[in-house]
Amino acid sequence: MDNEKLSLPQYDIPEDIQNAVAITTLDRLYNWGRRSSVWPLMFGLACCAIEMIAAQASRYDMARFGMEVMRPTPRQADLMLVSGTVTKKMVPALVRLYNQMPEPKYVVAMGACASSGGPFKEGYNVVAGIDKFLPVDVYIPGCPPTPQALIAGMIKLQEKIDKESIKKVSWYNKKNKGQDVNYVPVPILGPDLIDPRRNAEIKSAAAVKATQESAS
Ligand code: SF4
Repeated sequence: MDNEKLSLPQYDIPEDIQNAVAITTLDRLYNWGRRSSVWPLMFGLACCAIEMIAAQASRYDMARFGMEVMRPTPRQADLMLVSGTVTKKMVPALVRLYNQMPEPKYVVAMGACASSGGPFKEGYNVVAGIDKFLPVDVYIPGCPPTPQALIAGMIKLQEKIDKESIKKVSWYNKKNKGQDVNYVPVPILGPDLIDPRRNAEIKSAAAVKATQESAS
């Protein structure tokens, strides 16, 4: 869908009334409204955040996408733009903020660090990509990605939103009974980061190790 085109392409609406009349579908109207007002949560983690800030300023002007309103609260945000190195200490806070965002919500991993750990991959204090914990919709490569790359990533996100259907989206599915299907258990930070979703795996590995030690 082109940014401005709400109408279905097969209808030839006279040019002089194109700003006043649209022939469209409910899905297209719904997606058009959301793709044009994605509000990012306002935070930055490291150097990539500087490029994100530059993309918001007058030269690149993310306001053209309806994305200029960076919200200081997760309750009013629908995009988590992870810009920078994700440390183990930061992950519980990020996951908690993600859980506090209402549906529909999206996650963009900006830069090598957020996508894979980047230059700090395998570092003792760094997570090798936020996708180990959160469902990432768009990855933006680069160290750092330029504002243009971030805007290209935002266009990809818009294209993804364009493909959604009001009948299929999880947040309107009555079978979910108001449950947040995207809820992520908050990781626990101790001597290392523990993902509660892997408790069974951790316990069985510990049991195997204990058996080996008692046998030796
Ligand atoms: S990807 Fe590069 S620029 Fe971005 S936070 Fe990591 S080290 Fe900094």
